[in-house]
Amino acid sequence: MIVTIDGPAGSGKSTTARNAAAELHYVYLDTGAMYRAVALGFLRADAAATSEAADRVLPALSVDVSYQDSAMQVYLNEEEVTAHLRTAEVGAIVSDISTLAPVRDYMVEQQRRIGHEQAEVHGGVVVDGRDTGTVVFPEADLKIFMVADVEERARRRLQEYEAAGEHISLAEVQAEIEERDQQDRTRDIAPLRRAEDAVEFDTTDCTIDEQVAFVVNRVKAHPAWGT
Ligand code: C5P
Repeated sequence: MIVTIDGPAGSGKSTTARNAAAELHYVYLDTGAMYRAVALGFLRADAAATSEAADRVLPALSVDVSYQDSAMQVYLNEEEVTAHLRTAEVGAIVSDISTLAPVRDYMVEQQRRIGHEQAEVHGGVVVDGRDTGTVVFPEADLKIFMVADVEERARRRLQEYEAAGEHISLAEVQAEIEERDQQDRTRDIAPLRRAEDAVEFDTTDCTIDEQVAFVVNRVKAHPAWGT
C-alpha cells in the first residue's frame, strides 16, 4: 500500500507520516530530506541553483536512503548526512534547488524505486513531500493533503530549529516558510498542489496524536489494508 502526504512546510506532514508508518509497521519515506541532501551537495560544491551548475554537480552526486529499526537515514555520496539536513542554511536554498528539472528527474526516479522496494518488503510505505500524490506516486492507494495556518506552521518549524540548536526568530521562520511555499506553489515543474483524489486535512488545531490517528484510521478503512 502506498500512502502519500503532501502539503506546505510545517503542516505536520513529517511527524505524522513517521508516526503513522511506525504504527502501521510500514516504512516512512521523507522526500523533503532527499531534496535537502541534494541542496547540501550544492552547498558543499559551492554551486548556485542554476541548470548549468546542475549539469556540473549532479553527475558526481548521489542521494540514497537506508532504514535502521525503521528510522530513515539519508546518504549524500555514501556519507550519512541525516543530522545536517534540517538547518536554516539548507532551508534557505532547498526550494531553489528543487525547481531544477534534472534534480527533480533524479529525485522522482530514486523515490519511485525506494517506495516500491520498501512497499514490497514491508507491505506499505508512507511518503511525504510536495508532489508525491501528483507526480511521484499518482497511483497511490491513499492521498492526503495537509494544510495549517501559517502562524501555527511557523511555530512548529521554530520548535524543530530550537531542538536542533539553531536560534532564529519566529518572524524569520515565518518569512522563510512563506517564501518557500510561494516558490513551491508557483514553480513550473511539479508545483505543490492537492491531487484531485487527495483528502484535504487541516491540522491547525490538531495534536500530533490526532493527526496520526486520522491517517491510521484512513489506511485501516482502505480496501487494500491487510491484503
Ligand atoms: O519537506 P521539507 O520542508 O523538508 O522540504 C524541503 C523542500 O524540498 C521543499 O520546500 C520543496 O522545495 C522541496 N521538496 C519538493 N518536492 C518534494 C519534497 C520537498 O520540491 N516532494
